[in-house]
Amino acid sequence: MARTSCTFCEGQGVRLIRKGVERPCNCVFRAIFRACFNRFRECVESSPLKTVSLDYCAGPNGRRTYSRKREEYMADFTLIANRVLDEEELRIFRFYYLLGAGYKLCCRQLKMDRTDFFRYLYRIQRKLGRSFAETEPYALYPVAEYFSGVVRKGPSLPPGPPAAQQQKKKWVYCLPLSA
Ligand SMILES: [Zn+2]
Repeated sequence: MARTSCTFCEGQGVRLIRKGVERPCNCVFRAIFRACFNRFRECVESSPLKTVSLDYCAGPNGRRTYSRKREEYMADFTLIANRVLDEEELRIFRFYYLLGAGYKLCCRQLKMDRTDFFRYLYRIQRKLGRSFAETEPYALYPVAEYFSGVVRKGPSLPPGPPAAQQQKKKWVYCLPLSA
């Protein structure tokens, strides 16, 4: 997912913050945002209503649910943006990404110069990319996994603070084969 031309990570996808502490590079989060946003646009542009899909959600119990994946994806995309972005970022997100206004029109309406506007766009992409990948239990990224559903082979996890699970979590973002 990392850009080979990235000056911070040089295509490694990981940045050293301080001695021994690494975190994913912002170029990875921006790439995740673009992948999710491209799928969002495909959902918006396709026909208004599709049939429901049948998903297997818990392997051992054989439970299945009906869902409208495309509509759920669009709702999740905008709801995460509403939750994560602050007021100014949300306004820019709506104008530029949802309403499709060009940057010149946005700059004029928001009374903002071009440099500040693109700084905001980078910040929005970084924040949303991270949230799309880390939202639990159903992250938007990988997009193919969101739409195909995940069949859990083992028993469901007990409710409670996922401290142990958080510790095991690793920074791994990669491009799915089907994307
Ligand atoms: Zn990078």
